[in-house]
Amino acid sequence: MPQLETAINPNLGRVKDRVAFVTGAGSGIGRAAALKLASEGARVCLADLKDNRTDEVKQLIEEKGGEAFVADVDVSDEARVREGIEKAVGKWGRLDIVFANAGINGTWTPIENMTSEQWDDTLATNLKGTFLAVKYAIPYMKEHGGSIIVTSSINGSRKFSSFGASAYSASKAGQVAFAKMAALELARYRIRVNVICPGAIDTNIGENTNITPELKTIQIPVKYPEGSQPLEHRSGKPEQVADLVLFLASDESSHISGTEMFIDGAESLL
Ligand code: NAD
Repeated sequence: MPQLETAINPNLGRVKDRVAFVTGAGSGIGRAAALKLASEGARVCLADLKDNRTDEVKQLIEEKGGEAFVADVDVSDEARVREGIEKAVGKWGRLDIVFANAGINGTWTPIENMTSEQWDDTLATNLKGTFLAVKYAIPYMKEHGGSIIVTSSINGSRKFSSFGASAYSASKAGQVAFAKMAALELARYRIRVNVICPGAIDTNIGENTNITPELKTIQIPVKYPEGSQPLEHRSGKPEQVADLVLFLASDESSHISGTEMFIDGAESLL
């Protein structure tokens, strides 16, 4: 897992003095992005489900001289999302960056076998969770502008060959559409909104996927094994995604909004 290699110098950094709200910050892409943003001077609110290793991320940031705090947030729970954002603003007085990243694979099964509860669970975390983070951030970002980054997936845009992932893909496609609508709507507040679409990234997300036995009935051979990528012939690393998040959070991307960025080593072109 990524560590914070360098000390944080609060006087330097591409997101110096900015306040960031990062969901899913205890693991994988969210964790790497939180560390990266902190290493570039941001104060980071680490939002994740209770007991999800955010304390360890906080400790790593503080050991290097940065600032972070943990908010127990289930992104599908409206009150918790609002509270988490309010706590971040209460502590640091502003909000500049939102990384709406928390997500689950959910249940992968043929559509005819998927229950509406399984469908709702996936949509609630991935899509409603994104909407809620954006909605409750707006009041605090509209005065001075900021950057919102949403984590979708190549499964929501270019790649529809992960069998059984209909709910996941629908939620990820919804995030792309939502982020583009938000970019247009929030441009008047100078809030930029971009959506990133990773390919296979080396994280824990697969561990909690509910793959049902019925999935075998629709598995057909695919040309390339899952996760093979033309560029590096391996899954991407969370730190590689974190570099893109930092770019989109910083002023280096000041003219970029409403864009869908693929970070997949060309996997989605296969
Ligand atoms: P991960 O499982 O390592 O991390 C996800 C984090 O989100 C975990 O800490 C988890 O506790 C948190 N989370 C889950 N449900 C939550 C909820 N309801 N409220 C708050 N936090 C919640 O996975 P990851 O790969 O880092 O996933 C991050 C994002 O990247 C997800 O949106 C995922 O769909 C997307 N993504 C991942 C890959 C991949 O191959 N890893 C590819 C494309 C997109």
